[in-house]
Amino acid sequence: MQSYNSFEVAQTEIKAAAKVLNLDKATLDLLLWPQREFKFTLPVKMDDGATKIFHGYRIQHNFARGPAKGGIRFHPDETIDTMRALAGWMTWKAAVVDLPLGGSKGGVVCDPRKMSARELENTARAYVRALWQHIGIDRDVPAPDVYTNPQTMAWMMDEYETITNQHQPGVMSNKPISLGGSEGRRDATARGGVVAVREACATFRVDPDGPYAIQGFGSTGQRTAMFHQELLGGGKLIAVSDSSGAIYNPAGINPRDLVGHKLRTGSVSGFPGAESMDPDSLLELNVAVLYPAALENAINIGNARRIKARIICELANGPTTPQADKILFERGVHVIPDILANAGGVIGSYLEMVQNRDTYYWDEALVRQRLDATLTRAYQTVVSGATARRIPMRTSAMLVAVARVAEACKLRGWV
Ligand code: NAD
Repeated sequence: MQSYNSFEVAQTEIKAAAKVLNLDKATLDLLLWPQREFKFTLPVKMDDGATKIFHGYRIQHNFARGPAKGGIRFHPDETIDTMRALAGWMTWKAAVVDLPLGGSKGGVVCDPRKMSARELENTARAYVRALWQHIGIDRDVPAPDVYTNPQTMAWMMDEYETITNQHQPGVMSNKPISLGGSEGRRDATARGGVVAVREACATFRVDPDGPYAIQGFGSTGQRTAMFHQELLGGGKLIAVSDSSGAIYNPAGINPRDLVGHKLRTGSVSGFPGAESMDPDSLLELNVAVLYPAALENAINIGNARRIKARIICELANGPTTPQADKILFERGVHVIPDILANAGGVIGSYLEMVQNRDTYYWDEALVRQRLDATLTRAYQTVVSGATARRIPMRTSAMLVAVARVAEACKLRGWV
């Protein structure tokens, strides 16, 4: 399969949107590049007494609509180009759902699977010591990402508060609830995706009671399995995969029982009543809705012509290659693009920031209601653009997002 430099892909998407929107050269040049990039070395005390030097990054793509927002990864293969691409996608994600935020991303090049909890804590604290002047609720708010989690955010928040001598829970999002995290944040990505699917089923008269399949049964896939039936008032889960393999039962799989099975055994394989299937064939099942919730490039030139799903909801980032996207559009498959489909996560983080700012905390029902309203509005805006211009949903989403950010840059007098 062709491999892509994500930053080049991201820049190509911006150029395409800028062309349709007729943006001037200065605006395009501004949006193509992050506004700020930080690169630092992090001396970290290891358990054996040695000091190891790690390399850390923070990329802040755009601040025109508000403070930047984006995850921090701890990963051995992290590169500055991946982070540049991801920071830009955060800008577009926040803009397409109309949040007053920009986009950022960061990371430390390290292998957390080979590090102790104490070494990870030392790394998290060193990261904040290097960056603290450039983050904060009015500057840039990090969140967990690959191999980081609410505990990482708790250490980072504590380090920031120790340095600034202030209570500042809003400096990080997706924290543990007891430290200023939000009710409903954990579920927000999956819930947002299913809200978009509910709207798509109503718009395109897809039977909400039809079959659905999920690739990837991690935190997002598991919650999606349950919320699909809750929010659509029906639907039959017929196939699920994870890194151990795939299972299939045309009579339906009970999502709650499967979550229990995965918790007990660590995989979906061997679930009673279901047969095992080839994980690649799962993507080609005749379903109303397919949720890719695992990897990049899962739908590619090799399988795009065999996809039979009516709706694809991209919970994962980048699960469809650009060539496959074109084929799906020509074949009439309704693709809800990642920057919209998984924007529930950033909406949840934004709602957490609002509660942190007010130091007044909401119950889960209110969080769900606000998430639902924000995502529904965004879906309707993107689908009307796509229908009116006869363009793919991804292009329509990018046009909405780039136009909003470009307008903010212009109104500020930057370009
Ligand atoms: P996770 O690590 O909890 O789950 C990933 C799942 O994918 C695991 O079940 C794993 O077994 C499975 N998987 C790995 N390789 C696979 C393969 N070849 N075939 C099938 N399944 C495979 O991660 P997550 O938080 O659920 O995130 C999933 C996707 O959603 C990622 O692309 C992530 O970037 C995206 N996403 C997540 C959030 C969030 O809030 N969690 C927000 C935005 C986007």
